[in-house]
Amino acid sequence: MSLQNPKIGFVSLGCPKALVDSERILTQLKVEGYDIVQSYDAADVVVVNTCGFIDSAVTESLDAIGEALAENGKVIVTGCLGKKPEQIRAAHPGVLSISGPQDYGSVMNAVHAALPPKHDPFINLVPDTGIKLTPKHYAYLKISEGCNHRCSFCIIPSMRGDLVSRPVDDVLREAEKLAMGGVKELLVISQDTSAYGVDVKYAEREWRGKPYQTRMKALCEGLSDLGIWTRLHYVYPYPHVDDIIPLMAQTHNGMPKLLPYLDIPFQHASPRVLKLMKRPGAVDKTLERILRWRAITPEITIRSTFIVGFPGETEAEFEELLDFLDEAQLDRVGAFAYSPVDGAKANDLPDPLPEAVKQERLARFMERQAEISTAKLEAKVGTVQRCLVDAIDGDLAIARSMADAPEIDGLVQIQNGFEAGLKPGEFVDVEILGSDEHDLYGEVAFNG
Ligand code: SF4
Repeated sequence: MSLQNPKIGFVSLGCPKALVDSERILTQLKVEGYDIVQSYDAADVVVVNTCGFIDSAVTESLDAIGEALAENGKVIVTGCLGKKPEQIRAAHPGVLSISGPQDYGSVMNAVHAALPPKHDPFINLVPDTGIKLTPKHYAYLKISEGCNHRCSFCIIPSMRGDLVSRPVDDVLREAEKLAMGGVKELLVISQDTSAYGVDVKYAEREWRGKPYQTRMKALCEGLSDLGIWTRLHYVYPYPHVDDIIPLMAQTHNGMPKLLPYLDIPFQHASPRVLKLMKRPGAVDKTLERILRWRAITPEITIRSTFIVGFPGETEAEFEELLDFLDEAQLDRVGAFAYSPVDGAKANDLPDPLPEAVKQERLARFMERQAEISTAKLEAKVGTVQRCLVDAIDGDLAIARSMADAPEIDGLVQIQNGFEAGLKPGEFVDVEILGSDEHDLYGEVAFNG
């Protein structure tokens, strides 16, 4: 067997969303044992993540594809310009594959076809270095692949299959190695973090001489021993999520055992729409449980994503969603106007909404949530927040509080960050002096 890992060149163009896509793809490539190389010559295949928003971005993307073809010859194209495959093929008929934004599955399939992975993805999972575009003080920790749900708007299960959980000791070992390499924050990701271990019947494994079940709570307990931040993404509100909330209120060596933060993709609040989406739909219980979680851990941040304008969504059902926002008072919210995905069951549903209605509802939704988010951030003015520094920018340090996941949430700008000698990857207590709709502003809080 060759000792060398297969090598991928990666060109990332475009906006921060495209950057997130690039990071996800790079993370997956590393997880599967591919090396990321910095030159066309050294690469076996090149992935170009394109932008297609304005004409100059289209030209830049087409030029980048042309250069990669000329220098390397094997090119996989993804990203926004991938929505116009005919334009790409007209200019560059030789590309291996074209996919649109957030279509990680297609990119990975194209990579596998051109260059099979050397490793079993569940062995040798640990990247030796950080992912190129992600600062090395935080890292994504993927705990499973695939999904047992069949949401009608989603094609991930048909691409990736049912849930396959990584054994808990493998995950903990990877996390330990990342922490030893300087990572200060782990972002636990999967398609459905709450379902972790269901497929292996919560099999028990050993790590550092102690037994751990392959189960979300046991994983969180193991991670808490590493003395760094752990943030959970894509948590579905199953009843056993209640079991991990107390960990958010406990500390270990001065660190919260688990960050008081949950990323829960609710997607909608109308039981009928949730049923059409084939999502769990007990909205009343969801609200009750949010209240209970807040009683146990008052500082908990709840982030969610929603789809507005799903086929058949009535004005009354949309207003139900707005009422839910008012009641749930979520801290952070992302929303999308429904758009069909090739191959998804939801495409066959009756009464698709006109684009103008979808956009109008999205604007109303975002306006309502902006008021809530703004008020929630305003309430933090005058408090002291523990933050993790991401970067130094002139006089400022750019940091995130426990309430802010990288890329998707807000920032904390520390006005005297440079003067205070802060460095990326450092924890610091910040006195919050101001806020807006997304971000907080403050200064290093000196104790005495
Ligand atoms: S939306 Fe998420 S939970 Fe639903 S099927 Fe797709 S991956 Fe699974």
